[in-house]
Amino acid sequence: MRTTDEGTAAMLTTVDSLPTRPTAGLSGPSASGLLPLARRGDGLVGSVIDSSTSLLAAQSHDIVRFAMGAPAADVTPARLLTSIAAEVWDESSFTYGATEGEPRLIQALVEDSADGPQPVHPERVVITSGGMQGLDIAFKLFVDPGDLVVVESPTYTNGSATALSYGADLLEVPVDADGMDVERLEDAVAGARRTPKVIYTIPNFQNPSGVTLSLSRRRRLLELAHRWGSVILDDDPYGSLRFAGQHIPGFGQLSPHDPLVFSVRTFSKILAPGLRVGWVDADPRLHPLLISAKQAMDTCTNVPNQHLVAEFIRRGELDEHLAMLRREYRSRKQAMTEALADQLGDGIATTDPQGGFFLWVTLRGPNAGIDSRRLFEIALAAGVALIPGTALSPSHRFADAFRLCFASCSPRRTRVGVRRLARALDQARDEAPTRTPAGSAATR
Ligand code: PMP
Repeated sequence: MRTTDEGTAAMLTTVDSLPTRPTAGLSGPSASGLLPLARRGDGLVGSVIDSSTSLLAAQSHDIVRFAMGAPAADVTPARLLTSIAAEVWDESSFTYGATEGEPRLIQALVEDSADGPQPVHPERVVITSGGMQGLDIAFKLFVDPGDLVVVESPTYTNGSATALSYGADLLEVPVDADGMDVERLEDAVAGARRTPKVIYTIPNFQNPSGVTLSLSRRRRLLELAHRWGSVILDDDPYGSLRFAGQHIPGFGQLSPHDPLVFSVRTFSKILAPGLRVGWVDADPRLHPLLISAKQAMDTCTNVPNQHLVAEFIRRGELDEHLAMLRREYRSRKQAMTEALADQLGDGIATTDPQGGFFLWVTLRGPNAGIDSRRLFEIALAAGVALIPGTALSPSHRFADAFRLCFASCSPRRTRVGVRRLARALDQARDEAPTRTPAGSAATR
């Protein structure tokens, strides 16, 4: 446990200590005078979300972790993965693999998806080092400096940061309870007087808002993409984690073999993020370029982990695991929404996700005017971690909102965290309120 002094030190940990750029070593402003840095460095904004991992690891007091979007240790099949590894890893697992991915993993994906709504076609798959590499390759292939890229507002800012790293101009389009507001997208593109190269969307249980893009908006987005010649970058790590409501067909189902649909997938949320295994599903004619891009990055994806995931799927474990996750996350989400309603009542509005990991909370009523960056600091000292809304918009909107991950904590632990959050809000209200711009579109 922390001493009082340590507790005070934790209170001094500010949201500014979640750097969006590296601050140590040779990087940062001081390095630019010393070293011949590329201008590209100006577009490297980093990730507040990822930086929260090290920040939280450096704290020694008890913290309920609603910040990172990671599956909890208690639902990660660590023992099973370890025993499968002991059985399947052999000499072939420890050498270089094919850049496009280990055939046994591609085969497992194809077989596992064959009876589902979105079958995987082997000629469309390239295995990647997590979803992030899929996003990086997509923006690398499609975006020149100054090209327009549409992102949702709020969005997964690691994705928008990747677009920025290739010099994109971002156009932020609001999200409401049905996902990206496609009418507003049309107006915004008309106003921008140029069409987007890429439309980046997270259609299911969006990170960070938890909302899902409606069927009619998916269809409209496909029409617009075809009218403009834009690529739909369909980033869907959470689609198989639906625990309520009906499946909504994905872009690949609505428009099979569409060259303008580039889909990014990952095992991070459905199995374990530390494996760093994902895949892209894209037009086979793009594959030579995709593979060249990957060869200039990392040659191939981690081979032992590809063998491990392939065997996990081949044994039928993934389907059982997903069924368990859906049950578990349904009850975790319910525990969080009930605790929030109980403890915070009219002081907040939340989205109502039907799957995935996240709830989006907007401060209102007695909490209107509290800045979620300040709340982050107070809450961290009080032993609960969240991601302030400003970290989830490339232009730092949503100071009146924050993201909570309901997937990582058991219901009991969640209730502890929400009680701490309520105390943190009491303290934030007692401070002189910093007025923030109202209106977080994602929340109804
Ligand atoms: N896209 C979204 C929407 C995500 O939430 C994440 C993970 N937080 C990723 C991509 C990246 O996935 P990975 O960890 O497999 O790189």
